[in-house]
Amino acid sequence: MSAHELYGLTRVINAHGTYTPLGVSRSAENVRRAVCEALSDFFVIDELQATASGVISKLTGARAGAVVHCTSAGVSLAVAATMTGHSIEKIRALPDTAGMSNRVILPAGHAVDYGHPIVQDIRLAGARPVLAGFEDACSIDQLEESMSVDRAACLLLVSSRLTRGEPIPMREAVSSAHRHGLPAIIDGAAQDMRIDELLATGADLLIVSAQKYLAGPTAGLVLGDPELVGAVRAQEKGIGRSMKATKEGILGALAALTDRKDFDLADWRNRQEQKVLEFVRHAGRLPGVSASVDPDKAGMPFPRACLAIDPTSAGMDAASLVEKLRAGEPSIWVMLSGDTQGTLVLELVPLEAEEIGIILSRLASILVR
Ligand SMILES: *Cc1c(COP(=O)(O)O)cnc(C)c1O
Repeated sequence: MSAHELYGLTRVINAHGTYTPLGVSRSAENVRRAVCEALSDFFVIDELQATASGVISKLTGARAGAVVHCTSAGVSLAVAATMTGHSIEKIRALPDTAGMSNRVILPAGHAVDYGHPIVQDIRLAGARPVLAGFEDACSIDQLEESMSVDRAACLLLVSSRLTRGEPIPMREAVSSAHRHGLPAIIDGAAQDMRIDELLATGADLLIVSAQKYLAGPTAGLVLGDPELVGAVRAQEKGIGRSMKATKEGILGALAALTDRKDFDLADWRNRQEQKVLEFVRHAGRLPGVSASVDPDKAGMPFPRACLAIDPTSAGMDAASLVEKLRAGEPSIWVMLSGDTQGTLVLELVPLEAEEIGIILSRLASILVR
């Protein structure tokens, strides 16, 4: 009996992307098996993490790696590591940062909210976020200006649907941090397909989610400088206790990363495009719907389907359509575009043909009268 049957849980078709309130992603057979096997056994966790570091290095080219509970934990622990290094006194003192440099610079447009404000991940370690520049733009000069006082680290995010303002040239931003003697941390949560490119910026630590497009169990991968990665691990004697990776998280994440070896990006990208094109061709025939293929503006290698709703011919606005999709059985979750009111955005990456068919027939049953 499935958990849905056993507990009477809502069945969901998730066209909302790698969305935490819906369980993020679907893991493949290899990953599920690794998690399942890990659960029935014991491990020397330090040895498991050391092995994880080796596997992560071999597969990504990073100099070292560790697994933590999630990306959010990775941000707090990376910030903590830059403040404490390996000092056990400092590690045990956090979030009290007396006697430590505790200011963390981030460009104002990178102070995103992915369900909670990212600056809270910084504050959780006891550090104080300092926003550089303006929300709509932060120049390298503005970034450097904020670095000229006593600072602990610089945190940068990869441009995405969440960040605001002009994209910041990452390589230059990392170099400025280094000129001021600051380590640079990159939060690349959803960017597991661009690990090479992000490591090449020279960042000291890169944090990537294991459960977003990598489709592993909930975990965060912290990659980069061996000293700092070691200091991240050392936080387990302090605030990191509540952010530790589980054995099944570590082994599942490694299985997901290992599966990436055989990943054919060109073929995958092509299949994602076809899936969206086909969906858009059908959805565009519905009354009140103008359907289009929307490439990801921040460079993720797949498009999404956009359905602009004309309330007069559709008989309802986009927000009501989103509600009606969600209220049905199974419950269908799509995004409502924030900038152009009246547009549904669907991410089809994890969906099977049958589920896409259900979305189309639900849309038809709501819109065709
Ligand atoms: C999703 C996301 C996170 C949080 O990831 P978790 O693994 O759920 O903690 C952090 N930063 C960014 C930019 C994200 O998109």
